[in-house]
Amino acid sequence: MENNHTEAFTTGNFIHDFIDRDLEEGVYNHVHTRFPPEPNGYLHIGHCKALIIDFGTALKYHGLCNLRFDDTNPAKEDVEFVDAIQEDIHWLGFDWGDRMYFGSDYFEQTYEYAVALIKKGLAYVCELTPEQFREYRGDLTHPAVSPWRDRPISESLDLFERMKNGEFPEGKYTLRAKIDLSSGNFNMRDPVLYRIRYIEHHRQGTKWCIFPMYDFAHPIQDAIEGITHSLCSLEYEDHRPLYNWVIENCPVPSHPRQIEFARLGINYTVLSKRKLRKLVEEGYVSGWDDPRMPTLCGLRRRGYTPAAVRNFIERTGVAKVNSTAEYGFLEHCLREDLNATAQRVMGVLRPVKLVLTNYPEDKTELFTVENNPENPADGSREVSFSRELFIESDDFMETPVPKYNRLYPGNEVRLKGAYIVRCTGCKKDENGNVVEVYAECDLESRGGNAPDGRKVRGTIHWVNARDCLDAEVRLYSNLFTDPDPDASGKDFIACLNPDSLEVLTGCKVEKCLENGKPGDRWQFMRLGYFCLDSRDCAPGRLVFNRAVTLKDSWAKQARA
Ligand code: ATP
Ligand code: MG
Repeated sequence: MENNHTEAFTTGNFIHDFIDRDLEEGVYNHVHTRFPPEPNGYLHIGHCKALIIDFGTALKYHGLCNLRFDDTNPAKEDVEFVDAIQEDIHWLGFDWGDRMYFGSDYFEQTYEYAVALIKKGLAYVCELTPEQFREYRGDLTHPAVSPWRDRPISESLDLFERMKNGEFPEGKYTLRAKIDLSSGNFNMRDPVLYRIRYIEHHRQGTKWCIFPMYDFAHPIQDAIEGITHSLCSLEYEDHRPLYNWVIENCPVPSHPRQIEFARLGINYTVLSKRKLRKLVEEGYVSGWDDPRMPTLCGLRRRGYTPAAVRNFIERTGVAKVNSTAEYGFLEHCLREDLNATAQRVMGVLRPVKLVLTNYPEDKTELFTVENNPENPADGSREVSFSRELFIESDDFMETPVPKYNRLYPGNEVRLKGAYIVRCTGCKKDENGNVVEVYAECDLESRGGNAPDGRKVRGTIHWVNARDCLDAEVRLYSNLFTDPDPDASGKDFIACLNPDSLEVLTGCKVEKCLENGKPGDRWQFMRLGYFCLDSRDCAPGRLVFNRAVTLKDSWAKQARA
């Protein structure tokens, strides 16, 4: 685990108000939550909101939080996702102890509760076809119609058992709760509890051919695990009456309370597993962990820290009304964390050689530089310097534009931490491209300070050509050009940004980076924060991902 958990949600929110009241009134004497991901995709930053609320609330009340894979629906589940979800939760700093469960482990119990409901006259086997089902649903002024709701209990019991035994084809029968056909809440109009599906389950194999619906299975799973507060996103609010109906009418061992919170949305991205899967499967990105993806594995590979993600979630708050957070704010949280923790190094993305014509050819000097001026405890290191260096090609202009105070013939700049140099000219190839820049070094200005106190406006970064390392650097910008690609009805694929990835090769970085490990992060001075890629690095091959720029480029974009 990269980071031990600091308490989440120390500030109050409306969920905690509910819980406080429950504890005060003695409805519960402890707090037990659960995080119920469906193992059909990787976790994204929206799930992160739910899991931080679930685990964070348990932590705040010194309670417990279970991890429960909601594999009730037999389609599309995969061990790959089960493993990845656990890794992501641990990475964020949370732990479920020995309480990892699968919803499908309760199929037997769920079946028994369904039988109990039939015996009480509260459920019946219905044989409307899916088309008839829709047709008989009614509307706000007309109740639903269900010709089978008065089927004798013994007949329903018999049919339900035979459904389980595989005697009927898919769609022939369903088990429905007998609640209220005229309810204004359509979830209460005799909802389906079980349906027939001949599909292999990833854990249960072919043992079952009837599967409970989510609205029936979920409250039962919560109750079996002794969950006190079942926290879920807002779209389940209208399902709460059904949740409570199941809890009240099945002989369950405990009575959990469901509380809903607003979903997290972020602009310039999509947060739906279905859409994210399409991006992966159709090759718009390189995988679930593509650094442009809003998945936790993508953010991690990009260079995000657990602290940055947790801070972002905590600061966007827990609300009762859905809203959209700024992607730029997520980046701000990362920048803030890395500013405090990341070592500063020098790296040159688009290099051009700088030759100091008056500097001795065989000399190498070492300069001691602080690793992080924001955190002196990080110590210092030695950076080597010699006659030939690499600088950023846009730090030289043969004919400067107004206000340009970097290198141009006749101008002086400070080479960060080393010397002041005066540009004397450049060499160009036959196409007119600058291949070398020349300067003279003020040998009296060691450390970068002019002995006569004269003013030098520009400071540029550099690396020593003699010992620097080659690297590939991947620059990312937003995956979508549209601020709301997730809007319903919008073709999100058409909103993709064709320029969201720029790959630079032949970049030059400081020698100290040869000891870096995949996942390590640095500030490249003047450029941004970069993370060593966890997938594509190899011995002798450095690949960096730009996690975030130093300044907010979104603000600039918004102004433009
Ligand atoms: P998706 O819409 O991405 O497919 P889901 O709701 O189907 O998500 P689950 O695996 O069922 O995915 O989600 C696990 C938990 O995460 C659920 O409690 C769900 O409510 C919550 N969750 C999913 N997306 C968000 C979001 N954007 N904001 C807050 N909670 C979310
Ligand atoms: Mg879901």
